[in-house]
Amino acid sequence: MSKIPKSHPRYHSLMTRELISEAMKQGIVHETGLIAHGRGEAFDYLIGETTIPEADVAEKIAAAALLCAKNPVISINGNVTALTADECISLAKSIPAKLEVNLFHRTPERVKKIAALFRKKGVKTLYGVHPDARIPGLDSDRALCEKIGIFTADVVLVPLEDGDRCQALQRMGKTVIAIDLNPLSRTAQTATITIVDNVTRAIPQIEHWVYQLKETTPAYRQKLVATWDNSKNLEKVMGFLSKRLNSLS
Ligand code: ATP
Repeated sequence: MSKIPKSHPRYHSLMTRELISEAMKQGIVHETGLIAHGRGEAFDYLIGETTIPEADVAEKIAAAALLCAKNPVISINGNVTALTADECISLAKSIPAKLEVNLFHRTPERVKKIAALFRKKGVKTLYGVHPDARIPGLDSDRALCEKIGIFTADVVLVPLEDGDRCQALQRMGKTVIAIDLNPLSRTAQTATITIVDNVTRAIPQIEHWVYQLKETTPAYRQKLVATWDNSKNLEKVMGFLSKRLNSLS
């Protein structure tokens, strides 16, 4: 990895780029993952590279939904592996939830590499390596999943999702939690709970809320989820963005 001085004003952003670029060289991230990351970076710049209050509240509701779930699953792709493998493992343990690999550009080599990385980090079972089911209505390899994993999950956390799969999971009646810096994407617009935040900040913050909410009653957590208005929160995110742009101009 290139050496970036800690004093650089954009140290974190540049280090994140290095992680993604390194993971691409290792065959974990697909080259299109770099483009997706760039789009995310642009939106992160606009929100001020911070967890805005509307994201924090969505992270709290996401934690509540994951704690209420019977079979919660965290979906893992190349970029998520590169940026937040440790954080996803820690979040999965805290709930507890399953981790399942799901790739748009799926090849046996990439799956193997991602599985090996999680194994090295102590994960005994990474679901999705040997898929035995398909998400109905999806033609791409993203449909491939595991029966005891995403196929029967009631709540799925999909960091960095594409809109088609998000919609297909919704059609299966699942609660879909999406992390997407672009509030205008189809994913952001169709998820049950949309977190407009960087995955690197969102995953640890969901875990923070998991521990806070474990101190509350199941009824309290269920009420949080049942009364969640995702469209209203997205409206507030757009309001935040336009106010911020106006204040900067
Ligand atoms: P959709 O199909 O939902 O309309 P899209 O075609 O823009 O969206 P993809 O290119 O499949 O989506 O996925 C990239 C999405 O992930 C982008 O919306 C981008 O903003 C978001 N993204 C990229 N990196 C991050 C990150 N580190 N944290 C959060 N979101 C990110």
